[in-house]
Amino acid sequence: MESSKPHAVLLASPGLGHLIPVLELAKRLVTHHAFHVTVFAIAASASPAETQLLRSATSSKLLHVVELPPVNISSLVDADAAVFTRIAVMMREVIPNFRAAMFAMRVPPSLFIVDLFGFEALEIAEFDMPKYTFVPTAACALALTLYVPTLDVEVKGEYVDRAEPLRLPGCKSVRPEDVIDPMMERRNQQYLEYIRMAIGIPKADGILLNTWEDLEPTTLRALRDHKAMAQFAKVPIYPIGPLTRSVGQEEVRTELLDWLDLQPIDSVIYVSFGSGGTYSSEQLAELAWGLELSQQRFIWVVRPPIENDHSGSFFTTGKGGEHPSDYLPEGFLTRTKNVGMVAPLWAPQVEILSHPSVGGFLSHCGWGSTLDSMLNGVPMVAWPLYAEQRLNAAMLTEELGIAVRPEVLPTKRVVRKEEIEKMRVKEVMKTGERALRKGGSSYNSLSQVASAATSFHKEYRSPVKNCP
Ligand code: UDP
Repeated sequence: MESSKPHAVLLASPGLGHLIPVLELAKRLVTHHAFHVTVFAIAASASPAETQLLRSATSSKLLHVVELPPVNISSLVDADAAVFTRIAVMMREVIPNFRAAMFAMRVPPSLFIVDLFGFEALEIAEFDMPKYTFVPTAACALALTLYVPTLDVEVKGEYVDRAEPLRLPGCKSVRPEDVIDPMMERRNQQYLEYIRMAIGIPKADGILLNTWEDLEPTTLRALRDHKAMAQFAKVPIYPIGPLTRSVGQEEVRTELLDWLDLQPIDSVIYVSFGSGGTYSSEQLAELAWGLELSQQRFIWVVRPPIENDHSGSFFTTGKGGEHPSDYLPEGFLTRTKNVGMVAPLWAPQVEILSHPSVGGFLSHCGWGSTLDSMLNGVPMVAWPLYAEQRLNAAMLTEELGIAVRPEVLPTKRVVRKEEIEKMRVKEVMKTGERALRKGGSSYNSLSQVASAATSFHKEYRSPVKNCP
């Protein structure tokens, strides 16, 4: 690694919804801003899909990828702890290993970016360089997060039991039933972790967001300028998205894509609930029956059912030995073989959504999937499950008009083509593309961050000083 170029270090927390945008941010720093980039990822919880992603990032030679050794957190969290708690604790416990790895690096970094769960690494005392928190979600989720310590004081009882919406200064109010998962039960450990995160995120020189100016102008304005809200953001906000994997980065030619080639344009609905979304057996059966009765063409990413936990396979994506016929209704695969395809556990989502035969996406509204859909101009049917997905779904349906949110399980009442046609998703796609282009708002935001780090590099890192 030449020391003439600035070196950026990125720390990613577990989960594809975090890892994918961090890797995309890393690639942009390399290709658009001439940085060397080292990405630290946590090997402990890596699912096969994450391992595969890290492997291909390493072999691309664009980035230096370091997998941090596993940390055993079993004595620190309950066996049934929420995914949010497990990620938060894991990121806290990994800090000593991460710190040691940073000190062992030959070329000292000039830029340090952590994703939102890594906020405690911002406080490693010796890290003297420009530091940023990367929040891979929408601005509306960040606004709610930053405001939650205030709500914690103001609101008595459970948020979800309130009759009134939660008012956020300068932003759209949040319906109690749409709050982020850790807010669902205030005595749960994940709520305490969430409050810590809200206080920790702004302890950086700036906050990077995986959104763009034209998508969320009101919320971004509130985070920057509304006194009652901006006091919590504290630092500059940089919308740098939409960062999501693009087609053609990996060799994927599967029978799913071959099948799509044979289907009419806009005729197929893609059904997927992110990297770990799961259903109970009853809901799974209902969804299967619904799809079958609708006679709609489909690709469905299926996972074995898990009772009472919608994020049930978050850490185990791609694991599991069962065949779909073991858990789908008897005969379903045979009866639907002419109209649909099931993909066990995982599918090449970006390639599928960019295929002209796909006309809709029944999605859990994870922000990564939402961006995939927007950037491919595919309207969505929103079926949020966990995390901040209900909040995303509200924005997509009520503000942006690029999704419908059915009251009953979507396949019970198939969304009519006219409903989908009137959506403005192609318009949103264009604004996202424009934001990323040279001179676009997100390009310029990241340029500001890159240039602060480059100045730091020139002043303090060349010739090489002590690390870090
Ligand atoms: N993804 C994929 N194939 C799948 C499921 C997910 O490629 O079968 C990718 C998808 O492109 C997205 C990410 O995994 O970028 C999932 O992130 P998201 O925020 O949508 O949901 P999460 O998995 O965090 O719930």
